[in-house]
Amino acid sequence: MSAAAQILLVEHDPEERRLAARVLGDSGWQVREVGRARECLEALGRGGDFVVLLDLDLPDLDGRELVARIASAHPNTPAVVVTGIDDVAVAIDAMQRGAWDYLVKRPDGSHLAHLHHVVARTLERRQLVRERNRFRDEMEALAIALRGTTDGVAIFDPRGRISFVNRAFAVALRRPESEIVGRLLDDFVQVPGDEATLDDVLAAVGEQGRWSGELRTQGEEPPQGIWDVTLTPIGCPEPVAGAALPSERRMVGIFRDVSEKHALEQLRADFLSMITHDIKVPLTVILGYTEMLTDPEPPPGQIPPDILTRIRESGETIHALVCNFLDLSRIEAGRMTLDPRSFDVQGMLAHAVEHYESTARRKGIALALDGDPLPPLIADESQLQRVVANLLANAIKYTPRGGRITIRTERENGRVLISFEDTGRGIPADELPHLFEKYRRVREQKRTEGTGLGLFIAKTIVGAHGGDIRVESTPGVGSTFTLVLPL
Ligand code: ADP
Repeated sequence: MSAAAQILLVEHDPEERRLAARVLGDSGWQVREVGRARECLEALGRGGDFVVLLDLDLPDLDGRELVARIASAHPNTPAVVVTGIDDVAVAIDAMQRGAWDYLVKRPDGSHLAHLHHVVARTLERRQLVRERNRFRDEMEALAIALRGTTDGVAIFDPRGRISFVNRAFAVALRRPESEIVGRLLDDFVQVPGDEATLDDVLAAVGEQGRWSGELRTQGEEPPQGIWDVTLTPIGCPEPVAGAALPSERRMVGIFRDVSEKHALEQLRADFLSMITHDIKVPLTVILGYTEMLTDPEPPPGQIPPDILTRIRESGETIHALVCNFLDLSRIEAGRMTLDPRSFDVQGMLAHAVEHYESTARRKGIALALDGDPLPPLIADESQLQRVVANLLANAIKYTPRGGRITIRTERENGRVLISFEDTGRGIPADELPHLFEKYRRVREQKRTEGTGLGLFIAKTIVGAHGGDIRVESTPGVGSTFTLVLPL
């Protein structure tokens, strides 16, 4: 018996009402008595946990209509008809309108002995309905979560035959769900390396109750298609024909795509080895030449005439690497600040040309500054110097001996355009859209030193000024990087 449930007895005949109330009261139920449909609806409207027992013969409303109103306004409140009308058609009509049960009154009062069972049965049924509703709600919530989650979810038997996949997993495997269900997990993923097979993993789930680790999409090379996976058995142990262990059950797998994390880790590892190499080379130059300079008796003819320029350039290479690295951490921490002041752009460019002149000359590259005179620019001069230095150093780095680099200035519709035009190796068209991404480097047969950070930083700095960098390039002919800055 539900502790909180009360009986709402709707009976117009006072004598019958009294008798029924007494029988129910004797069975331990709390009984509220009313004589009209209106009073019944008012009582339900005030709230409470009721089972309604109602006669069809009411003075203010047909009892079947009352059943219908209860069913629509209080669907969780069971209404049981207790009536003298012993007619199957009426009973069916009442049940169709929402009655939970139908008990016929007997003139000898024998039906009263059944009242207790009818109420108990109704409460039991209500409990089942509530549980069913709760399960349905939970199922709906789970279905929404499964549909909405970005993690892949799959259910499969102990041999790995898939019976369910959610949309996220199907999208990640680039196949419709219908092409995945029924096939083996083995067809889509594998254990990285060759120490274990997927069968070993599935057996481990059966033995240990759970498995976590990484799996790889078939056919994709790391760092792509890497999944962080948790496999857990579900449901009651069921005997599965052909399965090795009788306790093996179906499993659910949660697949989190960690390819991007792996790619980033790979990039960082490459970056570290790159930066170590790129610092080591100029450092060796500096140490070698300074040793020569400090040797009291240097070997004759070994000291190059431009030894100091070479030492300075090597120092600058290390300085630029460190600056780029610091800029990157500032950008990533959101700490890049601008200090805009009015300054002479042409003067700044002339100074940069002067600075890189000797390096360019040594590589046999002609360096020129050309174009319109420009008005003073309000911007962060030292940050823009870094942008110019990155673009100019790139132009020199990626232009072979005998080439030409021209810096052109131009005014156009309230903007300043500064272009760095080189006759270097150029950039393949498919690389251009990605050129300004962090750590991005164009694949090359013989590696040139660099970290893939210069253009990313330059673009971020120029963007912070409300400007942009454009690039045009033809492989084997040359590249033009253009800074566009608002005046
Ligand atoms: P880094 O030069 O350190 O690799 P950047 O971000 O400055 O990094 O440049 C990214 C890539 O763009 C370079 O690796 C290079 O392949 C390409 N690149 C940049 N500037 C030029 C240029 N002027 N000519 C040809 N390729 C260039």
